[in-house]
Amino acid sequence: MFQDWERLFDLATSAGSLAVIGLDSRNLVRFWSPSAHRMLGWSSEETLGQPLPFPLKHSPGKSRGLDAQLHVMLRTKCGEQIIVGVRASDWNEAPGQRPGALYVLQDVTLQHKEEDEARSARRFRELLEAAPDAILEIDRQGRIVLANAIAERMFGYARAELVGLEVDNLLPSAMRARHKQHREHYDAHPSTRPMGSGLKLEAIRRDMERFPVEISLSPVDSEEGQRVIAIVRDTSDRHATEEKLLQIREAFARELAHKNDELQKRNREIEKSDRLKSEFLASMSHELRTPLHTIIGFSELLSEQMQGPLNDKQKRFVEHILRDSLHLLELINDILDLSKIESGRLELHRETFDAGVSIEEVLASMRPRAAQKSIELSHGLNGTIELCADRVRFKEILLNLLGNAVKFTPEHGRVAVEVARESSGSWRFTVSDTGIGIPPEEHEAIFDKFYQAGSTTRGIREGTGLGLAITRHLVQEHGGRVWVESEPGRGSRFSFTIPDREIIAWPVS
Ligand code: ADP
Repeated sequence: MFQDWERLFDLATSAGSLAVIGLDSRNLVRFWSPSAHRMLGWSSEETLGQPLPFPLKHSPGKSRGLDAQLHVMLRTKCGEQIIVGVRASDWNEAPGQRPGALYVLQDVTLQHKEEDEARSARRFRELLEAAPDAILEIDRQGRIVLANAIAERMFGYARAELVGLEVDNLLPSAMRARHKQHREHYDAHPSTRPMGSGLKLEAIRRDMERFPVEISLSPVDSEEGQRVIAIVRDTSDRHATEEKLLQIREAFARELAHKNDELQKRNREIEKSDRLKSEFLASMSHELRTPLHTIIGFSELLSEQMQGPLNDKQKRFVEHILRDSLHLLELINDILDLSKIESGRLELHRETFDAGVSIEEVLASMRPRAAQKSIELSHGLNGTIELCADRVRFKEILLNLLGNAVKFTPEHGRVAVEVARESSGSWRFTVSDTGIGIPPEEHEAIFDKFYQAGSTTRGIREGTGLGLAITRHLVQEHGGRVWVESEPGRGSRFSFTIPDREIIAWPVS
C-alpha cells in the first residue's frame, strides 16, 4: 500500500497538473485527486465508491505501464469535450488483494487544437502554392498582405517585396485612378465575382510589361477586418491562341470566298457553254433535217418503184437507206427537242382538254406497230379526263412510253393505259406492258440522256436513248413526276402525274 501511494505521489509531482484516479478491483473509485476535480468537474465526494462517470477501460494484468499514453476524448461534468492523454497501470490497494487500476490523465485539448491549427495552416499554404493562378490577399488600405509563388513569378517581385506593396502597383497607370473607386465600391458590396466582367483587363509586371488577365475577387474576414482575395490568371497564352484561331478562321473565310467566286465564275462559264451547246445543237439539227428529208423523200420514191423497177439487191439497199435515214431523223428530232428543253426554250401551251380523247388518238397511232407483233393494246378509261396541260406534249409523253412498251414487249404480249386520280389532286397515267422488264438498279438511270438498258427484245439496239430523258423533262415542266416499277421478265409499269391545276413548273434538273 505504502509503495503505491509513494508511486502516486511521484507521478503527481513529476508530471505537474495531472488528474490521478484510482479504481479498486470492482472498478469503483477509490481515489480521486483534487486535480481530477478541477479537470473533470466531479468532486471526490461525488465519485468515491462510484463507477467512473465516463468510459475508460483498463484490463488488470495487461498494463502497458505508465509510460504509454493514449489520447481519449471525454466529456466533463458540464458537457465540455476535452482530449486527455491517459496513462494506466495496475494498482494494488493492499497486498494480496485483486489489483485495481490507476489512471493518470493529462488535458491535451489545447495541444491538439494547436496541432490542428498548424496542420490546416500548412495545408492552406500548400494549396496556395499549388494553385495555378496568382493569389493575393489585400487589406482595406489596398496593401498586399499575402501572395503565393505564382504571384511572384507573374509580377516579377519577390514575395517579401509583394507583401506590403500597394496593389495598384500591379495595374497599368491608366487604370489606377479608377481602381481606388472600384475597391471602395467592392468594400461596400462584397461578394465573390469576376472583376470588371466583360472588360479586357490588363496587369503590369515589374519590368513594365503589360499582359492580359482575368481576376476573380472574394471577400474574407480576418482579425484585422474584411479583406479581399484576388485570384489573377494570366491569359496571354489563351489570347495568343484565340488570336491565332481568329487569323486561321479569317484566312479560311477568305479562301472560301475566293473559291466560291471561282466556282461561281466556273458555273457561269459552264452555263454559258451549255447554252451555246444547246443552241448549236438546235441549229445544227435544223440544218441536218432539211437534207435528211430530201434523202428520205427520194428513197421512199425509189422504194415505191414509180420510176422503174429495182432488182432485189437495189431494193434492199434502198430499204437500208430509208430505215437508217428515218432513224437519223428520229435522233435529230429528239436532240432538237432535248436541246430546246435544256436551253429553256420549251414553252408549254396549256389548255384544258379531255385527256381520254388524246389517249385514244395516241393508241390509234400505235396500233399498226402493235399489230405487227400481235400485241394487244387496251385502256381502262371511263368518262372524261379534264386535264390542263400542253396537249401536244402530253401526247408526246404517252407516245414515248407506249412506243417503248411496244418495242420492249415480245410478240403476243399486252400493253395497257390506265388513268387514276391521286389524293393530291393530280391525274396519274400508267403505261404497263408484259415485256422484258428492267432491273431495279437501272430504274433511275434509264431516265438519263443516252442511257439504254442492257437488252432489247430482239437483241438489237433500237431507238436513241433520249425518249425517257425528254419524257421526264416534259412531265417535270408540267409540275409532275415520272417513275417506273419493273422487274426483269415481269413487264414494266411507267407512271407519270400531271397536276390538275396549273402550277408553277419545277426547275428542270
Ligand atoms: P430508247 O430510245 O432506247 O427507247 P428511252 O430513253 O426511251 O430510249 O429508253 C431508255 C432505255 O430504257 C431503253 O433503251 C430500254 O433499255 C429501257 N426501257 C424503256 N422503256 C422500257 C420498257 N417498257 N420495257 C423495258 N425497257 C424499257
